[in-house]
Amino acid sequence: MNRDLKLYLALTALLALALAGGGVLYLSGEARRQQEGIRRWREIRGEYMATLAQNVQGTLKDAKYLPTRTKALTNLRADRAERVKGIFLWKRGEGVTWQDGVSDAVRDAFPTNARWHAVGTTSLSAPRGWTAPVSNNADIAVAWARLGGGEVAALEVDLRDNLTGSNPGNLFKVGFSIIALLFMILLFFLWQLVRAAQLARMESDRKTTFIDNLSHELKIPLAVVRMKTERLLAGKVTDPQKLQAAYQSIADENGEVIRQVDDLLDLVRTGKGTRRYARGVFDLNLVAHEAATALRDRFPPDGLGVKLADGDVRVNADPDAVRQIIRNLLDNAAKYAAAKGRVDIEVAHAGGWARVTVADRGDGIPPDQRERIFERFYRIDNDLTRTTGGTGIGLCLARCFARDLGGDVTVAARPGGGSIFTLELPEET
Ligand code: ADP
Repeated sequence: MNRDLKLYLALTALLALALAGGGVLYLSGEARRQQEGIRRWREIRGEYMATLAQNVQGTLKDAKYLPTRTKALTNLRADRAERVKGIFLWKRGEGVTWQDGVSDAVRDAFPTNARWHAVGTTSLSAPRGWTAPVSNNADIAVAWARLGGGEVAALEVDLRDNLTGSNPGNLFKVGFSIIALLFMILLFFLWQLVRAAQLARMESDRKTTFIDNLSHELKIPLAVVRMKTERLLAGKVTDPQKLQAAYQSIADENGEVIRQVDDLLDLVRTGKGTRRYARGVFDLNLVAHEAATALRDRFPPDGLGVKLADGDVRVNADPDAVRQIIRNLLDNAAKYAAAKGRVDIEVAHAGGWARVTVADRGDGIPPDQRERIFERFYRIDNDLTRTTGGTGIGLCLARCFARDLGGDVTVAARPGGGSIFTLELPEET
């Protein structure tokens, strides 16, 4: 299990425990308090509203004309002015027309902090200066009285003034919000956990495939070495030319095994940051030419074009590492693209940079995988890689080396089809 996964697992477990424990404690205590509080709240509010409604009705029921009503409301205000926070006037019924002046007159009769509302009915458009329909806010009590002519007057009283403490409903909302927030954080950690697990799984799958591929890569040359050695030991090869060819083949296959093992050691060292480089100033033309010559027989005749730069392209780098980078790019071009067209390697000066490009006419690399092919063990999943040997560490090493040496290896689509891999290193002036 990797470190991220462990961390997320621990954090998620901790948070889940805290959330569960805290939630149970809070909710059980709170639920009791809520029940009691709400019951009490309803009781008080009910009583209060009943009294209020009676008062309003009593005061207003005979009011027929606007001035009288206004006066009655004014009396109410005098009675409990500071508790009256707003007033509703609601008119309905056939044949009754609303006069705008009513709202103004009534509003004038109340303190400036009174809030005004149109009580919800679709048949009534709110008078000037009135706001939207009544909310269900539990802190506000509304008492209303039906008047003659289909009009209704109502008082809104802010009950918070009449109760000690705050509305338990609000407390519940706060508690619930905190729990919801913690729950969302928990979900976030869970999501991270799932992601980390997926990544760990992918990494482990890639390692398994890598070991599988590596075993093949090592087994084939070792099998050739064993077969040739057995024939030599059995004295089956006597012709001096054939003997020479057999020794050469053994040496080549042995070299292949050593190369694979070296790659593995490099992978470990670059991963730990302990890869050492033997730097020196050299001409990149020479190293590129050398690599192209060494791999020429991997390409069809005329299948590899080499173009060197004018004059020396001097770099201060490790020639072995640079050779390995270029050989890997050429090796890939031979494996994945040489059958489709000519491959061109070119060395050039590029504004302070020394540049080697390897351009092929293969199937190219899908845009979303152009970075991924530089990850260790990553191989594009297609018919070509399934039938071509490889371990998926060549480009990873190439990029690591290049970056350690102050440059980079990148890939782009080649105009007209194929890929173009570029190695850049700072040019020595
Ligand atoms: P390997 O060749 O051992 O699989 P590399 O790290 O060298 O590993 O390359 C990673 C992958 O990038 C290859 O498996 C292949 O899918 C893709 N690739 C590399 N070079 C080319 C190329 N020239 N054309 C198409 N695909 C390529």
